[in-house]
Amino acid sequence: MPELPEVETIRLGLRKYLVGHEIVDVDVSLPRIFSGDSKQIIGAKVQRIRRFGKGLLIDLDNDYSIAVHVKMTGQVLYRKVARASRVSQVPLAKVDVNDLPDKYTHIIFKLKSQNAKLKNASKNSKIDNDAFLFYRDMRQFGWVKVVLTKDAGDLAFFKNLGPEFFKDLDSKKFSEILKRNKKPVKQVIMDQSKMAGVGNIYANDGLYDAGINPKKAANSLTLKEQEKLFKSLEKVMKKGIAVGGASEWSYVDILGGAGQYQNFFQVYNQKGKPCNKCGSLIEKINLGGRGTFFCPACQK
Ligand SMILES: [Zn+2]
Repeated sequence: MPELPEVETIRLGLRKYLVGHEIVDVDVSLPRIFSGDSKQIIGAKVQRIRRFGKGLLIDLDNDYSIAVHVKMTGQVLYRKVARASRVSQVPLAKVDVNDLPDKYTHIIFKLKSQNAKLKNASKNSKIDNDAFLFYRDMRQFGWVKVVLTKDAGDLAFFKNLGPEFFKDLDSKKFSEILKRNKKPVKQVIMDQSKMAGVGNIYANDGLYDAGINPKKAANSLTLKEQEKLFKSLEKVMKKGIAVGGASEWSYVDILGGAGQYQNFFQVYNQKGKPCNKCGSLIEKINLGGRGTFFCPACQK
């Protein structure tokens, strides 16, 4: 499931490729995952892209926004109408955008770039487009909503979000949250209503980096451990952003390319492999319904 580094990578891609485009049409083939009035966004231009935890907000120039949550397997993909030649494709493509839309593509945004010189432009410029944004989702847990920008904060997802890493969560607030909770520390740092951004991959690797056992009660950590864990979580997520996220499953960037963090997993998905620090074998347990990986020697 995409976490902060993966969704941030999508945001950076949208900022690079989508901003400035006008939405000329919206085609929804799976109404269950789309809400709001698509007519409100036709003719509007994309102004900026914001991320809240694992959610995205595409702000338009007409007071409306498109909120997107990719959940488990959602993908946001951009393609020029003119198909890319095979040689100029993304080198690590997992999804070939030339093959879209396919059966998993549920929403198609037709786009026109600001200064597009459209080939074969007809007089009816409303239907001419030079790029697409596809929302693709195999398991269909994600969603796309058209909302008034000023009301976006009222969406349940955004409303219930705790303070966020790299934004309004600092080491002091982080410590206070841990002190108030007696659940296992791993469950507390993954609870998006308490703090936003960390999911299973970076929780596992962050706890390992800090040398803290994931089962330890959150309120039993010493101040030193709290501070170390905060730094370690930001450290592993920064690494995730730097390498474009983790693509061990369906996550891809907006051009269909794979991220590389799966090549840097420290304990996540490493059951039975030797610990990089001490050589003990990485163990796996179930904690709060999630696969939890740790080194029994290094994480006390
Ligand atoms: Zn170890």
